[in-house]
Amino acid sequence: MRMSKMLICTLREVPAEAEIASHQLMLRAGMMRKMASGIYNFMPFGLRALKKIEDIVREEMNKAGSQEFLASALLPAELWQESGRWEVFGPEMFKLKDRNSREFCLGPTHEEVFTDIARNEIKSYRQLPLNLYQIQTKYRDERRPRFGVMRSREFIMKDAYSFDKDKEGLDLSYNKMYEAYKNIFVRCGLDTKCVEADSGAMGGSGSAEFMVQSEVGEDDVVFCTSCDYAANMEKAPSTPEIPLNEELKNLEKIETPNVRTIGELVTFFNTDAKKFAKTLIYRADDKIVAVMVRGDREVNETKVINALGGAVEFEMADAETVFKATNAQVGFAGPIGLKADILLVDDEVANMFNFIVGANDTGYHINNVNYGREFKGKVGDFRNVVKGDKCPCCGEELTIARGIEVGHIFKLGTKYSTSMGASFIDENGESKPLIMGCYGIGINRTMAAIIEQNHDDNGIIWPLSVAPYHVIIVPVMIKNEEQMKVAEGLYNKLTSLGIEVIIDDRDERAGVKFKDADLMGIPMRITVGKKISESQVEFKLRASKEVEVISIDEIVHRVQQEFNK
Ligand code: ATP
Ligand code: MG
Repeated sequence: MRMSKMLICTLREVPAEAEIASHQLMLRAGMMRKMASGIYNFMPFGLRALKKIEDIVREEMNKAGSQEFLASALLPAELWQESGRWEVFGPEMFKLKDRNSREFCLGPTHEEVFTDIARNEIKSYRQLPLNLYQIQTKYRDERRPRFGVMRSREFIMKDAYSFDKDKEGLDLSYNKMYEAYKNIFVRCGLDTKCVEADSGAMGGSGSAEFMVQSEVGEDDVVFCTSCDYAANMEKAPSTPEIPLNEELKNLEKIETPNVRTIGELVTFFNTDAKKFAKTLIYRADDKIVAVMVRGDREVNETKVINALGGAVEFEMADAETVFKATNAQVGFAGPIGLKADILLVDDEVANMFNFIVGANDTGYHINNVNYGREFKGKVGDFRNVVKGDKCPCCGEELTIARGIEVGHIFKLGTKYSTSMGASFIDENGESKPLIMGCYGIGINRTMAAIIEQNHDDNGIIWPLSVAPYHVIIVPVMIKNEEQMKVAEGLYNKLTSLGIEVIIDDRDERAGVKFKDADLMGIPMRITVGKKISESQVEFKLRASKEVEVISIDEIVHRVQQEFNK
């Protein structure tokens, strides 16, 4: 392709709205343009990289025995009402009505659709196992669209759904997807970590996320400094710190006017945050739930929701609800005399001695409280892991890093097949619910993650496998006929070998062309300049600083070498 004929829309300035490297570079390299918050148009150059990622995903999914399918993005409400998710999805779902006031949504995911297909088409165990996938546009009205296509409101997802007759079959299907995902990300030039994820209170017997370690990631990944253990924060078990034995002391109610937060309490009592147990009040559907954790700890809401057996709506209670439960203003909640439907007590709190809690009386706290003596509740691990906690596999230290979730594999079990009546007849003539798994990859997010991992100050450094073009040929002076002739000759030769080449035949200074080539991240650059008088051109890898001077006869071979690495 000739760059003079292409829509090249590189930007020199860093767009103000873009905070992270991949977002900045996708705009600056002219790969996409924003249309509205969380909604982007892909420009020709960006689309090529996107399609390359899709192709890799498609090849590996096909290889794993999955069949491609394409569902509509416009989905009738009835399907979602059957599964119960019409309400559950909440404001993240784009809902709309047709001219006859029938309700629809723009699909945020497609479990319901595939379950519907399966219940209509699968009758017998002989048709199983089955795995279907699609590469299709999803819509989610995210609360905080940000970082460009990393978290957008319209995005392309590869979603696959497996159907099996039993649990062993599901395990096999799941493992195949796990392998396929590993291959996909390696081929995309991405370094990912597969981490255990929470599979929710509704069951599902396994779930893992593929994470790209990155400062700009929105998830916390917990991993062991010594063995292979890795889990996301929602799932990772924390080891309780066991305090030294103390003799139990008598309760003491202490006036603490306007002292509400742990920080304020630490100052007021002049003691460690570990001497306090905080009581947080939540609303879970129609119940008031109180959760106690040590003063310096954070509540892990996923662990709490799982302990409740699931909750559709779960949020911190408002001041009015807090007052109902504690008869006090926010900041003075405690376990003694609390009117909550459920009290969950973190196991660390249950082990503490003579600790300080809110008195359920505005302006007061109580000291020397002990679990079992003054109060009881459901005890469990309800807190987030912190750095230094022990690994559940080997006992060594855990550490925490930020990660970008690019893929997710999930054993659904019978969640949808039961609610939507998708069954098959087994070998004994009995009707059984289909056992399902679902598997997602964010295509555009993967693209952004690749750029996060592969860039420098000058621009993107595409891995060859997903680069929009493999080679850029830069004739230094387009008015120089000799140079143009050599450049065109190389262009034709490389193109005929199936190599994707662009030739920068724009009437620009060489410096400008080099800057664009770097920004756009084309893996190989061939510069055709004065050295052609000695039958030589310059060859430079985007990822390297070195310029190789190579004879024109050998340049094709040099380019080919890069594909065999
Ligand atoms: P997140 O926790 O980041 O919102 P999710 O758990 O909602 O992700 P899934 O429903 O598992 O994501 O979707 C499968 C994949 O789709 C994710 O692994 C991610 O790569 C991608 N994805 C999800 N939401 C978005 C989004 N708003 N923008 C871009 N990609 C997304
Ligand atoms: Mg999400």
